[in-house]
Amino acid sequence: MKWIDFRSDTVTEPTEEMLDAMRNAEVGDDVYEEDPTVNKLQKESAILMGKEAALFVPTGTFANQLSILTHTSMGDEIIVSKDNHIFLYEVGASAVISSVQLQLLGAGNGKVDIDELESSYRSSDIHFPRTGLVCIENAHSSGTVMALDNMREVFESTRAAKIPVHLDGARIFNASVFLNIDPARLAAYADSVMFCLSKGLCSPAGSILAGSGSFVRKARKYRKMMGGGMRQAGYLAAPGLISIDKMALRLEEDHSNAKYLASRLEETGLFSVNKDKLDINMVFCGISQKSFDEDDFIDYLKKNNIKIHPIHDNEYRFVTHYWITKENIDYFVEVIKKFK
Ligand SMILES: *Cc1c(COP(=O)(O)O)cnc(C)c1O
Repeated sequence: MKWIDFRSDTVTEPTEEMLDAMRNAEVGDDVYEEDPTVNKLQKESAILMGKEAALFVPTGTFANQLSILTHTSMGDEIIVSKDNHIFLYEVGASAVISSVQLQLLGAGNGKVDIDELESSYRSSDIHFPRTGLVCIENAHSSGTVMALDNMREVFESTRAAKIPVHLDGARIFNASVFLNIDPARLAAYADSVMFCLSKGLCSPAGSILAGSGSFVRKARKYRKMMGGGMRQAGYLAAPGLISIDKMALRLEEDHSNAKYLASRLEETGLFSVNKDKLDINMVFCGISQKSFDEDDFIDYLKKNNIKIHPIHDNEYRFVTHYWITKENIDYFVEVIKKFK
């Protein structure tokens, strides 16, 4: 029995086509740069992002941390918003791996306040750490998309201050679909960009880090140091190619399913949808009923073959993805309506 799983787009298992591509992949030792499938994925990814080169890595966290390690030196400070993944959900890795400290900007669901950003840059005063990097996130994991103009403002400001920018684009394709522009136009406002193949794009694992040729050469060595030099990684790059060639092109369906789910949830009278965070494949909603037992609700859904995450900061987050159909959403809503 397959679960109907609204917890995240990370639960997307590979399609039959992907499994076939894995079985038939042409592979080699990627540490020797001899895996043709990895090389193809890296080349196509670089082109897609408008960058000179790209590197296949195990996870999004790995890609972000590899980027920080490659851009910075020990003792640098990096600037990141306090509601970004790099600060919240990467186990404090930048302190351990890169020995950098973070300066946090206020939470903006991805949006960066330029005055706040500029006042966070460090001068050359002997007491200060060097500002080594600014990190931004688009699409933001709060379900919002950062405006292209805001990205440009950030980039122009950091350029003037000679600070590089890293874009955490775990869901860059969702942002590009929402904005209706090529991902390369987003990545143009960053020196490096990472994206995940394993979120809504159905690959079983893997992320890409892209940037200039010299950046990726340096990152390749650090990837080995971090234990990310994989051998016949072509078996993972093969579904990755399907992710970027095909899966990235169907994300609009997940976005419209999210909007459909949002409108149907309102019908139940149980939820109030946060419409400010409905840009991509996520629905955030609070509970509008007073007598509501959260544990009972989750158990009840489980008995009906549905998985959701517990409530967080007074909001549920429901995520649509390849394995969630419109019929699944109708079923979910009917099940909710019968909850007592
Ligand atoms: C999921 C995610 C990551 C990390 O990716 P993993 O593959 O889970 O390590 C990084 N940034 C954002 C915005 C994410 O949503």
